[in-house]
Amino acid sequence: MSELENLEEEQAEPAGFESKVSFFAKEQTVCPICEEKFNIERMLSGRGRLNAGKLTDELRRLYIPTPKFGKVNPLYYIIITCPNCFYSAYEADFKNTPHSNLDRLRNDIVKRKKFVYDTFGMVDFKKPRTILEGLVSFIMAQYSYAFFPTKVAPTTKIALSALRAAWLSSDLEGETKDSFYSNLKDNLYFKAYEYYAKAYNLLNSGKENVEAAGNLGPDLDKNYGFHGFLYIYGILLYKYGLKKIQSKDEQLKLANEAKIIVSRIFGSGKSSKDKNVFFLDMARSLYDAYAKFIASGNL
Ligand SMILES: [Zn+2]
Repeated sequence: MSELENLEEEQAEPAGFESKVSFFAKEQTVCPICEEKFNIERMLSGRGRLNAGKLTDELRRLYIPTPKFGKVNPLYYIIITCPNCFYSAYEADFKNTPHSNLDRLRNDIVKRKKFVYDTFGMVDFKKPRTILEGLVSFIMAQYSYAFFPTKVAPTTKIALSALRAAWLSSDLEGETKDSFYSNLKDNLYFKAYEYYAKAYNLLNSGKENVEAAGNLGPDLDKNYGFHGFLYIYGILLYKYGLKKIQSKDEQLKLANEAKIIVSRIFGSGKSSKDKNVFFLDMARSLYDAYAKFIASGNL
């Protein structure tokens, strides 16, 4: 049984618990880089805290704020971040930093903290996370995975983290109307495209197994698996990648390849648990968009 279920079943909670969306685990975790001891923050998902809204064309699940709990999003909590040095990773990897890279990550502590505070202002991982800490956790995870071995699929984890960071940046842009988040979002979407492309190429050359990343999401409500990975590569190239590519020939080459990749999602004819009608329709629409682009040359 998870701690989450334990806590939800407990009756004698402190006053005010009912309106909380997260709690800090009782046991302490030690940061492998700076040895800070801290308590991991975990989300409480029951009792109507999560109010699912629509699914976007990027397979992102939107959540509708409720009067009682306000804005709640599981993405804020999925990355473990050290509140002192901001070293960040998905939970399965957090304590498994390769020994050969510990010194480099330790030598970068001052630089890492300065980067976070200079770029994002006062973030605080000792308090309940807000969307800003959620965004910073995904940005810092992208940095950490440069230090991990291929067996944990670091390229795919950077790709996923960049995409999730782009989503949160897009939410912050909507909330604040600040061009900083608008530019950050554009950069993150393009980075997500580049890393999905990189991960796909590494898979084809046998150098990194995308599926070793575990849950490929791309969001946390459902794992769309390898077909979801292919679809996200296709949609990111279409929406964010193609327009940044100068050469028409290169655009057409990538579009033709992507059309074939996307057709693999609905082309096999087999039903599979990672497919559903909505997803197949999205893949078909993307396929049609590529066919149109290839015929007309216009996005
Ligand atoms: Zn640390």
